[in-house]
Amino acid sequence: MKRYIAKACPMALAICLLFLPILQGCAINEVREHSKNLFALNTWINIRIYAGREGPKIIDSAVRRIEEIERRMSVTIKDSDVSRINDNAGIQPVKVHEDTFKVIEKALEYAKLSKGAFDITVYPIVQLWGITTEHPRVPTDEEIREKLKFVDYQKVILNEDEGTVYLQEKGMGIDLGAIAKGYAADEVVRVLREEGVQHALINMGGNVIVVGNKPNGQPWRIGIQDPRSDGVQQHIAVVEAVNESVVSSGDYERYIKDVYQKTGVRYHHIFDPATGYPANQGLMATTVVAENSADADALSTIVFVMGAEKGLGLVEQIGNAEALAVTVDKKIYTTKGFDRRLTVTNEEYEIVP
Ligand code: AMP
Ligand code: MG
Repeated sequence: MKRYIAKACPMALAICLLFLPILQGCAINEVREHSKNLFALNTWINIRIYAGREGPKIIDSAVRRIEEIERRMSVTIKDSDVSRINDNAGIQPVKVHEDTFKVIEKALEYAKLSKGAFDITVYPIVQLWGITTEHPRVPTDEEIREKLKFVDYQKVILNEDEGTVYLQEKGMGIDLGAIAKGYAADEVVRVLREEGVQHALINMGGNVIVVGNKPNGQPWRIGIQDPRSDGVQQHIAVVEAVNESVVSSGDYERYIKDVYQKTGVRYHHIFDPATGYPANQGLMATTVVAENSADADALSTIVFVMGAEKGLGLVEQIGNAEALAVTVDKKIYTTKGFDRRLTVTNEEYEIVP
């Protein structure tokens, strides 16, 4: 018996040691934070998720999805769907990927709802000002008039059966910059949910989207950027969000800096398609909270172009989002009830009841 025990004990020990790493691995797949930064869709993106050891792989699939959307919708990638649509303006319809078709379809819905304040065919104007390039400039009234002839969302023809998009006139062009990030954020959330992620926060340069609540059960608290903090990360307010997207637009994101320093006039990147000039409704920033990030993205641009009264009125009428608008004199206007989850953190700013 003793001999049997003497033999069996080391053997059992060896087996245990052999399986220990596997047992450990099975038992401890602790959920922890995984995070990644990348540059895509013309902005810095941070993806933060809470997951087990599969976290990095999950993030990689989200990144692949973002890059796929960028390849299809970028206006600067030569063979993207958008570039092919623009190159074939006035020539022929272009077959595009379902992603691109869906985004353009939604953009046209918002163009109708906003009576053209949101208009993806504003691209010739965007190009004329060169705001997103190294050499932006203030064009002449004459140049603006010339380009405005090509701005008309009603001349974007979608053919659902064929999956094609056609711009009816040569000289037209589209730019999905005001909505594509939102769509990408929604797709990231879809990928994360499919992988079972329950808590995540994605920040795409001003477009924030959260999955679930925080791991500690509290709502996420999203800071609203101070539009006059000159690139420094400072907040004017904090909004609570669960399973939602918080998207901001503003005149601080991109503008012609040297002209601003000389004249105090801020020529920025959100254009009023009615005038061809940067939208000038007395706002510095807008923020929209909605379940869907593409909606929030389109609406934040719309409120900025339409101004506080009309823009917030439209958001209330559509009923799928909440919004705020920050005026140049630092007043915060909101849609009804939105202030219940909004805390102002900078005393120079005040909510107008
Ligand atoms: P966002 O930062 O989402 O407000 O979008 C701004 C970007 O959308 C600009 O950089 C332009 O590419 C494009 N854009 C500018 N004005 C408009 C507009 N009125 N409607 C649709 N897109 C616009
Ligand atoms: Mg937008």
